[in-house]
Amino acid sequence: MVNGKGDKWRGGWTSQYADNHNKIFGEKMNKIYIFDVDGTLTPSRQKMTEKFARFFDEWTSKNTYYLVTGSDLAKTQEQVPTAYIERANGIFTCCGNQLWREGNTKQWPIDLKLIYENKFNPPNNLLTYLGEQLRMTDYPVKAGNHIEDRGTLLNFSVVGRDCTLVQRKDYHEYDKVMDERKGIAKYIRENWSDIDAVIGGQISIDIYPKGNDKSQILEHIEKENPKGEIIFIGDGIENGGNDYPLAHLMDNIEGCDWYHTEGWEQTQKILEKLSD
Ligand SMILES: [Mg+2]
Repeated sequence: MVNGKGDKWRGGWTSQYADNHNKIFGEKMNKIYIFDVDGTLTPSRQKMTEKFARFFDEWTSKNTYYLVTGSDLAKTQEQVPTAYIERANGIFTCCGNQLWREGNTKQWPIDLKLIYENKFNPPNNLLTYLGEQLRMTDYPVKAGNHIEDRGTLLNFSVVGRDCTLVQRKDYHEYDKVMDERKGIAKYIRENWSDIDAVIGGQISIDIYPKGNDKSQILEHIEKENPKGEIIFIGDGIENGGNDYPLAHLMDNIEGCDWYHTEGWEQTQKILEKLSD
């Protein structure tokens, strides 16, 4: 487990001071958690495991948390049991470009309301470039659904989102060696000054207007929890993934902390340690 802040000097606000402060003033800082979903709470593109769900059931009944994912709501609902979506203070989908919240609490199935949405109309020359990458790649397998327009962002995948789990793993291994996604993302960032592109999950790239990344959710959460200590856990922080912009923004804000996880097993360990 790596804590992003390490032992960096934090302007006099050490955790030791925080403990003393709480003792002296008898006030406990509320912990507000933010979770990435894919690779953090669930295995990649799969449902939450039963083992983690058992742990998370008790955890979610006692804690305040938000979810922030690159996926859309439908995919998130496939992966995360309804109860944990319902208990969340908010679900930020499409890298924070949509916020969903429970509407009618007495209704089943739960009714989620769209609170805001940032639209993205990708320029034609970007779509042309992505099409060219699909034709020019040396990667032989094309499973379908390569350019997914989620209205608020584009999700681009050389192997295609319709791939099997085995094809997904194969491409992920190929990409680790070839850095294909990094190259494409870098080209986009360098050639479209108002557009950002980041590695998302195992096989794809998320593309959206600059600034419309996961970092945009922090101001909403801070506004809703002015006294909270905000903790973010994601698997795409240290590898330049789509969790990085949020973690990076938190680095410079007092009372914010982040943890990079390698998967749900480690996420559980981090949560157990934080609730000690
Ligand atoms: Mg992830």
